[in-house]
Formats: sequence, structure tokens, C-alpha cells
Amino acid sequence: MEKLIITVATTGGATSKEKQPNLPITPDEIVKAVIESYHEGAAIAHIHVRDPKTGLTSQNPELYREVVERIREEVDIIINLTTSTGARVDLFDKKLLTGKGWITTTAVERCEPLVLKPEMCSLDLGTMNFGNTIFTTTIPVAEEMAGIMLETGIKPEVEIFDAGHIDIAKHLIGKGLIKKPVHFQFCLGVMGGLSASPKNLLHLAESIPPDSTWSVLGIGPAEFPMAGLAVLMGGHARVGLEDNIYIERGVLAESNAQLVKKAARIAHVLGREIATAGEAREILRLN
Ligand code: ZN
Repeated sequence: MEKLIITVATTGGATSKEKQPNLPITPDEIVKAVIESYHEGAAIAHIHVRDPKTGLTSQNPELYREVVERIREEVDIIINLTTSTGARVDLFDKKLLTGKGWITTTAVERCEPLVLKPEMCSLDLGTMNFGNTIFTTTIPVAEEMAGIMLETGIKPEVEIFDAGHIDIAKHLIGKGLIKKPVHFQFCLGVMGGLSASPKNLLHLAESIPPDSTWSVLGIGPAEFPMAGLAVLMGGHARVGLEDNIYIERGVLAESNAQLVKKAARIAHVLGREIATAGEAREILRLN
């Protein structure tokens, strides 16, 4: 079996400092979290940035630039930038119904961080309930974003929150907007998406094109069970405070690196080796 690629998702856009005091917010904190996670075995860093004053999700290009440049100076980790910022809508929040309308960002605006030329970026495909909000990516928006990634030569990590998203991915592959081999991230356990069960994971893994690679993330208590299944099934795993704030039941994680270390330990116990960033580039055909 090929080596396990561990992705760390250090902060995301939704977790709050009130719930998890160790959540990285400032560029300093995010860079430190990525470096520590790299040393525990993470080969990919999935990056969001936060407004240091409010702690809220941000699309500020200067924050992205600072985080990406400083990580590149320090470690050889694969950088995977989010393109989901601004895609979540709360229909009951009147502020979003004014101004530009209720879709908060366009495909082009969502892809703005790609000017930093990361090796990978997320590509969302569907519109769905996402907790109490609505996550929006219409098919024309997904097509436009995939087209931008194709033009700029950045490999998309195709996010699958529900089984039907695989059909949208196949539609984009058929249109030549996503190149094979495709890398999928199964995002399981979001309220409104597919739940994190072995049966669901198996169904997804068997539904993607056969030459694809896949990784899985489980939300909250599903983080390590899903990582364990990925280890056994030959997939790859994502952990981090974006998805889960606990190291074990009722115990807050001290850091992202602690979560990566636990995923690496699960792999070790089950006899699967961890991929370095260089090995991950070969597995994902990034070279
Ligand atoms: Zn993310």
C-alpha cells in the first residue's frame, strides 16, 4: 500500500477561539501550527486565514501572502489554499440580503488567493445545508472555478460533502475542466452532508474514477475513526482544528500538531508508513 498522506487543516473558517483557545488566528500562529504539524508528519497544509482583530474568516490577500510566504521560507510542506471563503450564507442574517445580494462571493473572488500559486487548492462542487447556514456552489460557479484552476495549473482537491458531488465531479471531468488523476477529499459528518460512517466512506471510495486518489476528514468525534479507516483502506487522512477540536473525548487538543501526531500514531500501529511532502507530490502527481 502506498504511504499515508496526512493533511493538516489548522484553522478553517468556522471554529471559534471561545470553543478552542488553542485555535491559530494570527499569521504567526497559523505559520507556527503548520511548521509544528509538518514535523509531526503532515505533508499538506490546508490553509484559511483569519482577521487577527475579529478572529473571523478573512479573504484579505495580504494575510494569505504573509502566511504562504513564511511557510515556504520554513518548510517544504505542500500548500493547499481554500477557495471556499464567502460561500456560506445565513439566509436569516439580514446583512447578507443587502448590498451585492445574498451570494457573498463570485467564482473569481473565491479564487483570488490562487495568485500565490499554491500547489493545490480546494474545489467545492455543491450547494447544501451546512449546519445552520447554506453552503453555496452552483454548477456554473464550480465550472468557472475549475477552469481557473486548470488555467493556472493548480491541482484541485475536489471536496465531496455528499454522494451527488461525485456526479458533479464526473461532469467536470467530462467537460475537460478537471484533469485526471483526480484527488478527492471526502468531508464527512457535516450536518446537512453525508454522515461519517464506514459504509458511506466505502461507497464514496468505490464511486470515484479508478485512477483517483482520495483522502477523508471526519468532523468532530469522527476525525480519528475516519483517519483509521483511511489508513486501512489505502486512502489518505486530514486532521486539524478546522474539523475537530478534541484530542480525545472531552479533552481539548493542545495544538494541531498533537492531532497530526495522533493520526501518525494510528498509522504506525496499523503498519502504514507516512509520506513525506516529496513522496506526497509523487503520489498526487504534482511534479
Ligand atoms: Zn477548509
